[in-house]
Amino acid sequence: MEKELQYIKGVGPKRAELLKRELEIVTPEDLLTYIPRKYVDRSRVYTIRELAADMTYIQILGRFVSFEEIGVGTKRRFVARFTDGTGVIEVVWFNNYQRFATSLNTQSIYLLFGKPTVFAGRLSMTHPEIEKDPDMKKYEGSLQPVYPLTEGLRKAFITNKVMQEIVRNVFAAITVGGIRETLPAWLVKKHSLLSRGEAIWTVHFPTDMRTLDNARFRLKFEELFYVQIELLRQKNINHSEVAGIALCTSGPHLAEFYKSHLRFEPTGAQKRVVREIWTDLKSGRQMNRLVQGDVGSGKTLVALMSMLMMTGSGYQACLMAPTEILATQHFENLSAELGGMGVRIALLTGSTRTKQRRETLAGLADGTIQIVVGTHALIEPTVVFKNLALAVIDEQHRFGVQQRAKLWAKNTVPPHILVMTATPIPRTLAMTIYGDLDVSIIDEMPPGRRPVATEHYFHKDRNRLNAFIRNQIREGRQAYVVYPLIKESERSDYKNLEEGFKFMVDCFPEYKVCMLHGKMKPEEKDEAMRRFVCGEVQIMVATTVIEVGVNVPNASVMVIESAERFGLSQLHQLRGRVGRGASQSYCILMTDVALSKDSRRRMETMCQTTDGFEIAEVDLRLRGPGDLDGTMQSGLPFRLQISDLARDSEIVNFSRDCANEVLAQDPLLTSPNSIIISEQLKRLAQDKVNWGMIS
Ligand code: ADP
Ligand code: MG
Repeated sequence: MEKELQYIKGVGPKRAELLKRELEIVTPEDLLTYIPRKYVDRSRVYTIRELAADMTYIQILGRFVSFEEIGVGTKRRFVARFTDGTGVIEVVWFNNYQRFATSLNTQSIYLLFGKPTVFAGRLSMTHPEIEKDPDMKKYEGSLQPVYPLTEGLRKAFITNKVMQEIVRNVFAAITVGGIRETLPAWLVKKHSLLSRGEAIWTVHFPTDMRTLDNARFRLKFEELFYVQIELLRQKNINHSEVAGIALCTSGPHLAEFYKSHLRFEPTGAQKRVVREIWTDLKSGRQMNRLVQGDVGSGKTLVALMSMLMMTGSGYQACLMAPTEILATQHFENLSAELGGMGVRIALLTGSTRTKQRRETLAGLADGTIQIVVGTHALIEPTVVFKNLALAVIDEQHRFGVQQRAKLWAKNTVPPHILVMTATPIPRTLAMTIYGDLDVSIIDEMPPGRRPVATEHYFHKDRNRLNAFIRNQIREGRQAYVVYPLIKESERSDYKNLEEGFKFMVDCFPEYKVCMLHGKMKPEEKDEAMRRFVCGEVQIMVATTVIEVGVNVPNASVMVIESAERFGLSQLHQLRGRVGRGASQSYCILMTDVALSKDSRRRMETMCQTTDGFEIAEVDLRLRGPGDLDGTMQSGLPFRLQISDLARDSEIVNFSRDCANEVLAQDPLLTSPNSIIISEQLKRLAQDKVNWGMIS
């Protein structure tokens, strides 16, 4: 591997520079571990009639019928029309097309390999790979790797074919045996894995699907195995070294609450999770626990009961929410639940007035306030506690890992941390993504809930929709109408929201309509929310500020406008805003008739199920590889290059089991059996440092 990349045949200084700039490929080893994402069956030739917009790379066989240069300046391009007798497709080159312009002809048969697109009903293909008078026999059973290439590389004509050629030359220079093994021999043998060298060769030059699967499995396993080893080691360190405040009893507050303030019997799942938390709190170790529960499963009660264990023993607790609306609502609900119990509770957000703020800060510092509810204003340095022992973070997906760390610093003994999330994900995935957190799951809904009936409407159904909303309001219910707001700054989104608001005002002159969005002043938001909560307003037109946690049990209709612009988990969250009372609730997904395949699938999934875990699984499957949102990836010790936490969940589980087994036998990885492992961990950590320095 000593040879520099630029001296590999077919590379040279220019391409070496390009590979570095575009793909951060610096060494021959980097190139070998630049793994193709997809494979195309080169023996399969499509007809032009079969082509559709959502296809990936395919090949077609036919003749060019005409060539033409059009456009001016940077838009200048070379356009050819190509046919196979079933249809016509435009083939387009944007720059450096002279060599095609002079060499292509209308007599020969060509094989084009590329990704078709459809624009304004016209089929086209940009910068395909081309082969003149191809010998199709050589493609029999052949799998062509598709490398994730950038536009910059494609423009420099570094195509898939070129990549594969360069990789072949690297192998010629170093041989398969020269590739370092990174897993211990006993592990490779035990699970009949391919060697690393074989696996890497195979992913670049697959001969058949089965060997390719084995090779990909080996590489994914290796990657995930090291992630799991590192996570488990961190977790062991946390468990053995970080002391926490140990409770001796669950205290008088919880007992009193349970006896005389509880409005309903907790579900079995709520009780179990509270018990798991109690076990942590008395253990003497600092708790870092994640509570997962679908929307409406009653996480707030679990949080409240945990906080009462603390206050009853003379400690303080805080509850942190991602938005002011939600913090305010939690504060009001908790105040009501605890009425007359003598537990002092306060609200602290960015918009708390100076005088009030001063009082609250003083109360927290001297310990007279036992519970404080707030937004991330709570983690500011000015907020000092007398003895904070528990921090509950609601709806964690809005909070970063660093913010969690700031909470640790709020007490000399770090407070226990309870994270609550309504984004259900499979358990092993949760353990991986949330790294060092223990996971509890509330997998049971409070009794008597009726699933929200969900329907997919189109714009032409608007009259039917309004009639439906009117009926519900006549029965005393209320409705939400939500507009997507992808970026708070996008003016056009606000325009939709405002027009939607006016439209509803016009349609429902006999009722009151209010509007809620993130750019409103806090007082205006509070006022809108208050009017909706008390039932003075029947229809609330809002952005996703209501996505998280808002609880108005009387609302029974959730209309989601441009539903195709939301992800599945967001749709599920929004739908969770209704169906919180005893009456039947409805969710209506509004879209255009023309939808992409994925959007259609999302709408169907929403109409078919209300099970958050099922939805999460479809969601993960529909997302592209590497498409998990930032919070999901941010918990990982190393960057994943080939595995996908969502799609490879079985390998995730398997690698976790293996990592557990290894660490159980050799926790410090010092035995000869583990030398390769500890060396590879060092190397990975080193890479991470380098990464940190680059970005
Ligand atoms: P989430 O898990 O989405 O935060 P909440 O804590 O807001 O859910 O609870 C949703 C609703 O269910 C609230 O109105 C709450 O009062 C009610 N609830 C919670 N637990 C129970 C229970 N055990 N029995 C009946 N209703 C409950
Ligand atoms: Mg909640």
